[in-house]
Amino acid sequence: MATPIPNRQLFIDGEWKVPFLSKRIPIINPSTQQIIGDIPAATKEDVDLAVAAAKAALSRNKGTDWASASGSVRARYLRAIAAKITEKKSELSKLEAIDCGKPLDEAAWDMDDVAGCFDYYADLAEKLDANQKAPVSLPLENFRSYVLKEPIGVVALITPWNYPLLIATWKVAPALAAGCAAILKPSELASVTCLELAEICREVGLPRGVLNVLTGLGPEAGAPLASHPDVDKIAFTGSSATGTKIMTAAAQLVKPVSLELGGKSPIVVFEDVDLDKAAEWTLFGCFWVNGQICTATSRLIVHESIATEFLNRLVKWTKNIKISDPLEEGCRLGPVVSEGQYEKILKFISNAKSEGATILTGGSRPEHIKKGFFVEPTIITDVTTNMQIWREEVFGPVLCVKTFSTEEEAIDLANDTIYGLGSAVISNDLERCERITKAFRAGIVWVNCSQPCFTQAPWGGTKRSGFGRELGEWGLDNYLSVKQVTRHISDEPW
Ligand code: NAD
Repeated sequence: MATPIPNRQLFIDGEWKVPFLSKRIPIINPSTQQIIGDIPAATKEDVDLAVAAAKAALSRNKGTDWASASGSVRARYLRAIAAKITEKKSELSKLEAIDCGKPLDEAAWDMDDVAGCFDYYADLAEKLDANQKAPVSLPLENFRSYVLKEPIGVVALITPWNYPLLIATWKVAPALAAGCAAILKPSELASVTCLELAEICREVGLPRGVLNVLTGLGPEAGAPLASHPDVDKIAFTGSSATGTKIMTAAAQLVKPVSLELGGKSPIVVFEDVDLDKAAEWTLFGCFWVNGQICTATSRLIVHESIATEFLNRLVKWTKNIKISDPLEEGCRLGPVVSEGQYEKILKFISNAKSEGATILTGGSRPEHIKKGFFVEPTIITDVTTNMQIWREEVFGPVLCVKTFSTEEEAIDLANDTIYGLGSAVISNDLERCERITKAFRAGIVWVNCSQPCFTQAPWGGTKRSGFGRELGEWGLDNYLSVKQVTRHISDEPW
């Protein structure tokens, strides 16, 4: 039986509210192309209400508001949210799968990570209590100095559709742990589970206004949120093009931003590897979540001496990847999220062909699937470094390949991008891996693997992939402001 999509409104000040213009956006199941429900579309008026509610949550009954609550009080709510996510895991996974096309198993892993992330930041919220007034050593004896870490205030969290609830959680959990009040604006292409997070917050009795969820279009809901004068910080994950707009809006009010943007990440495979293991990581690194990962290692740079044999293996295995409805058992590749993405990916492939590249496997929609936004996993060779397929982020299941002969050449090819998000090296020579790790210009380096991601480790990019780090303790720092306090403790002036 089809999973029913709950009918939700905007979540503002702890209540469901009909959007000011009463507009709704249809939800299209990317696997069937059917409309399966709709989400509310917020506009500036709703943004104003949500920001006011968040502001009030930080100043209500001074002293007992969210910002002044102890870390352990905040931790209790975060743990309650984590427990509810776990309780509703099966339902949430199905909603995620039909909303964005992610295979059900992968959606279920996301839900485990979501619960784990709320628990992790609950622990860090408690640690904040213990680390109040961190001392700073000074060169003068008649002064004492310490640092207070305080919540930044009202934060706008704007997120994409590829990990709808997980990436939202990477922001919501640390923001709430830090004592901020948040307005979450998920992607209009996949908002369902973020609205369910709002319902969970209501169920656990999170104080009103601490988390508000506004669904809607980028220009109508996201833009007024980003430029709102009462928003103290913006945390954004999405495309570099939108990131530029967010940064421009933030600059007008000198607002801090953290930006997690796009990528075109390399995977360098040396001649000394176990070909099977390297092939497994290469395919996983590019085709996981249908290739719709910001860190997808979508540029394979392989040593020329193993290239033919390695590519034979990749092609053989790629042809065996099970492509199906994400709810079907064993599905490894579902549809891409929308018709727009589907058209965009096929255009990338046809451009590559017309620029002279060779489609080694894939390249179109799978023959056996008549409906839905499905794209075959695709491997492209005969690529040159000036081709679009080498330079631009596809955000779909498309791997492009170049060979190299020397380590230096491999590094140059890997760094030949405006982006600097993920990067991977596969080799049995660990000294060589160390050298490559240092040479990569990227925020994340995977050695003998690609894509594993842990809540405890920092996540983020360099160059046009953005700046700031999410996850781990760095993720909490995104929502804390550092206040220096210096006290004069002597009768002498200095
Ligand atoms: P997008 O930039 O189109 O949208 C992201 C969010 O921004 C959405 O909620 C959208 O509604 C909103 N938005 C759009 N225009 C806006 C505006 N003018 N003002 C304010 N908000 C606006 O990105 P997407 O298509 O949802 O996601 C795919 C992109 O995200 C890819 O480039 C991918 O690499 C990137 N991404 C990066 C990371 C990372 O950790 N670095 C993770 C996931 C995705």
